[in-house]
Amino acid sequence: MNFLNKKRSFILGLIFIVLFILNQFKSPIVIFLPVDLPGNLKASTIPPIGIFIERQYKGEIPNSKWCTVLQHELEHWEQYKTMGLLSFYYNYLLEYAKSGRIDHWMEKESNKNCKQKLNEIGLKKTNSETPDSIGYKEYENS
Ligand SMILES: [Zn+2]
Repeated sequence: MNFLNKKRSFILGLIFIVLFILNQFKSPIVIFLPVDLPGNLKASTIPPIGIFIERQYKGEIPNSKWCTVLQHELEHWEQYKTMGLLSFYYNYLLEYAKSGRIDHWMEKESNKNCKQKLNEIGLKKTNSETPDSIGYKEYENS
């Protein structure tokens, strides 16, 4: 094994150890990005590291009409905690390849759970907002 391979193995090992340690804590770091994410992506949950959200969604206030981007992503984090790291990525990527993001069952589940929590805290439904493509605002449709 030459020097470059040893260095590469060391760095990969280090990354693995850091991810393993982060996976033990299972609480997300939330980072508001100053840059736009590709496409119409607003945010991304990347376990075991954290949740990355476009900065423009930082001021969102939870209300009766829809889940905020942060609430939606926190539901993905709950999925990760339930499913575990490998299962989370396996299920997400497999279904993403089959049916894309909008029809993804984990996206639907995330919205459903978020809305359920809004209901539990006793907020009333309204019809004044229309859902966006990924469903962050589809609260009134369920
Ligand atoms: Zn999502």
